[in-house]
Amino acid sequence: MPKPTPGPRHDRRPGGGPPGRNKRPPQRPEKPAPDRTTPDIGQDGLPQVSLVRRGVERWQAGHPWIYRADLNGDPALQGGEVVRVVDTRGWFLGKAFYSKHSKISLRWLSYEDVPVDTDFFRQRLAQADAMRRRALPGENTYRLVHGEADLLPGLVVDRYGDCLSVQFLVAGTEQRKQLLIDLLVELFKPRAIVNRSDVGVRALEGLPQEKGVLYGTLPGPVPYDEGLVRVRADLLEGQKTGSFLDQRENHVMASQYAFGEALDCFSYVGGFALQLATRAQKVTAVEISEQAAAQLRENAAANKLPNVDVVVANAFDFLRDAVDEGQRFDTIVLDPPSFAKNKDAIEGALRGYKEINLRAMQLLRPGGYLISASCTYHIDEQGFEDMLASAAADAKRRVQIIEKRGAGKDHPVLLNLRETRYLKCFVLRVL
Ligand code: SAH
Repeated sequence: MPKPTPGPRHDRRPGGGPPGRNKRPPQRPEKPAPDRTTPDIGQDGLPQVSLVRRGVERWQAGHPWIYRADLNGDPALQGGEVVRVVDTRGWFLGKAFYSKHSKISLRWLSYEDVPVDTDFFRQRLAQADAMRRRALPGENTYRLVHGEADLLPGLVVDRYGDCLSVQFLVAGTEQRKQLLIDLLVELFKPRAIVNRSDVGVRALEGLPQEKGVLYGTLPGPVPYDEGLVRVRADLLEGQKTGSFLDQRENHVMASQYAFGEALDCFSYVGGFALQLATRAQKVTAVEISEQAAAQLRENAAANKLPNVDVVVANAFDFLRDAVDEGQRFDTIVLDPPSFAKNKDAIEGALRGYKEINLRAMQLLRPGGYLISASCTYHIDEQGFEDMLASAAADAKRRVQIIEKRGAGKDHPVLLNLRETRYLKCFVLRVL
C-alpha cells in the first residue's frame, strides 16, 4: 500500500491521516462552482470565502474589514453568515461576518480556527467587560462593547448602571440578536435592555431602523454619576444610545480646569456645563434644541447648581454677538455635532470649526481655558490641530496645548483602524 502523502495541514487529501484508523478525512474545499448558486463549504461546515492578494495583504496589515473588490468572486450567500475565510490556495485566515449589501463584505471575528458558537460570544462579551473594569474601576456606566475594536464587529453595548443600550449594526449581529440578548442577560443581569438600532448606517446593510425595549422594563430616564454630577440618560429618546458616553472622561476633566465665568456651547443636556458649574462662578450654556435645554435646566436644578444660565440659541450667532459686544470668559467649551458627514464636506466643516474656535479664543481672558472637541470622523487629530493653530493666528492670540485627548478608555481604537479615532478633545490655554 503506498504511503499516504499528507497535504497542507489544513487541507489533507483523502487517504491522509494515521494509517490503520478508519477515520473519515476532512473534506477538501470545493472549487468555486461557475454559476455561483450554491456557496462553497469549508472543512468545518461553514460557508467559505476566499480573498485575492490585496485582501490577504489587508488581513496581514491587521485591518478589521475586507471590501467586496478583495473577494475572489461573489459568494452565493444571503448575508449575516459567519464564514470561513481562506486565501486563494485554501489557507485559513480567519472567521468573519459576511455582509451582502455593504461594500464592506467581511468583518473579522476571529483569527483562530475556533467554533463561532454561543460560548465564543459569551467569552468575547466577558473579555470586553473585564477590560472596562480594569480601566475604569468602580464605574457602572461605560461602553461595554465597542464593535470591531472588541472583535465584536457590528455590536455596540452601552451600560448605564443596571440598564443596557444596544446597537446591532450589521446583518451578522442583527441575525444573532436573541443570542446576544440572552448572553447579556446571563452575564450582566440587567434590569432592561434597550435597542437603539435607529441609526442610518443600518441602511448600508439593508436593515431598517429599529428602536424599543428588548428585555425587562425601563424605569424611565436612568441616573448615573459623572464625577460629582448626577445626570440622567433617556435610553429610548436620548441622542446616540441615550447620552454621549464617549465624552464622559472629558466631562469630568473639564471640571478640573473650570474657573471664573464659563461658557459651554452645544450643551445638549449639560454634560460639560454641569461640570463647569461645580467650579466656575457662573456658566452660560448655549443649546439650540428647546427640549435639550429644558432637560439641562432640570439636571442643573437636580444637582443644586443654580449658577447655570441656559440660553436657547444658535451657538454661531451667540459667539459672534458676544465678540461684538466685547464679552469675556475664563473657561469655554466647544463640543459641536459633527460638521462633515462625508469627505466632500471637510472643507466647509473646517471653516465652521475655525469660526467658533477663533471667536472663543477672542472671548477668553489671558490665562483662560478653551476645551475644544470635534467628533467629525473625516477630520483627524492633525487636521484639527492645524485648524486650531490657524484660528489662534487669526485671533492674534498665543495659545498653549495642555492636553490632547480622545474618547474614553472604554472606546478603544484599533491601531490598524486609526480612522475610527473620531473624537478629538484639546485643552488649550490662552496666554
Ligand atoms: N456637549 C454635549 C454633546 C453635544 S451634542 C455633551 O457633552 O453631552 C451637540 C449638541 O449641539 C446637540 O444637543 C444639538 O442640539 C446642539 N446643536 C446643534 N447645532 C447647534 C447650534 N448651531 N447651536 C447650538 N447648539 C447646536
